[in-house]
Amino acid sequence: MSHDNAHIRALQPRVCTFFQRAYTTQHLSQSYLFIGADGTGIDEVVCGVAQMLMCPHGACTSCEACTRVARGVHPDVHILQPESASGYVIAQIEDLIEQAWRGPICAQNKLFVIHKAQLLRDNAANALLKILEEPPSHTHFILIARDASLVLSTIVSRCQCIPFVMPTRARAEELVEHAAHVEPASAKAALYAAQNPKRAIAMLTCPASQDVRAQIIALMQRMHTADSWDIIEAADAIGETMQLPVDTEAQSLASELEHTKDFLSSAAKKQLELKQKRQITALHKAQLFDSLDMVRALLRDALCMATGMDAQETDGATEVPGSESVLVCADAHDVCVLLSQTCTPTALIAALSFIDTIHEYITRNVTPQSCLEALFVGIKEKLYASSTTR
Ligand SMILES: [Zn+2]
Repeated sequence: MSHDNAHIRALQPRVCTFFQRAYTTQHLSQSYLFIGADGTGIDEVVCGVAQMLMCPHGACTSCEACTRVARGVHPDVHILQPESASGYVIAQIEDLIEQAWRGPICAQNKLFVIHKAQLLRDNAANALLKILEEPPSHTHFILIARDASLVLSTIVSRCQCIPFVMPTRARAEELVEHAAHVEPASAKAALYAAQNPKRAIAMLTCPASQDVRAQIIALMQRMHTADSWDIIEAADAIGETMQLPVDTEAQSLASELEHTKDFLSSAAKKQLELKQKRQITALHKAQLFDSLDMVRALLRDALCMATGMDAQETDGATEVPGSESVLVCADAHDVCVLLSQTCTPTALIAALSFIDTIHEYITRNVTPQSCLEALFVGIKEKLYASSTTR
């Protein structure tokens, strides 16, 4: 796979080799089902395969076609998400079929990427099945699902299934360490917070995200002495830092729209605008989830310390080689120690479960600023109210 992300090769070596071979021997199948969780490299491989299909220079990754693919604005690559909460609507698939029968606009092929394939049901699924059975020769499909067992078996049987396996924790740490050029302790902390290598690498290589982490650590450090106003101000400052990459992304999306507007039909333009809006909302949410995960990791380490679960490593002067440390925030050790000394385990557990409440708020589209304020004010209350101070 000539995709320029070296870490995808490291993350999914077998998938990359598979597609490279299929491409060079001209055996790319017309329908694939990619199966795997977020962060396993699915998006990157979709991009790589799309470049194989669209690029006149052998998936060079740098020509105009490849750049358009990477930016998600190639006119022959159609990316579908379910339009209703319950799934794909029949009109979406009818539109897809109409598009599929028309020839490609600038490349030799057309590609349809269908996210959340488990949400293809009833009429929509039946309509898609017909075209999957006998696709026009220039048309390719990549369906994506977390788990093949959730997808209608009639759909699965018409696709070549490509599993994206989550790497082991040790392997994932190694990947993050190399891709983000960080110490093992930072890789471990980011991976714990992010849950998958791709998000961990993004966190570690984004300056704003690192800045947010530093501000969160600083706030947690002075949480026991801070009053409500200190906390609200700190939460607002964190929100402003988070806004920076969102603004940058919004600008680049706006210029993308400007560049492509003459070239797209008004329906396609409308679609792109909607897609961009979704991207911005998703970015906001992802950042909020990242910060919840950072706080969660700190509290978790503090709880391990407060309950003595970390005893095995603090007892011995040196860590036993090969033994897995239970603590994940080695880079914020002092804060965790302080929290473990100033809060009871009960308070720490209450604060941890409060984070889940905030998680709920975020999924319900509350503004980022109010989420952050509620998060830190609430955590202070859980940790230090009702004389839980030791
Ligand atoms: Zn190219």
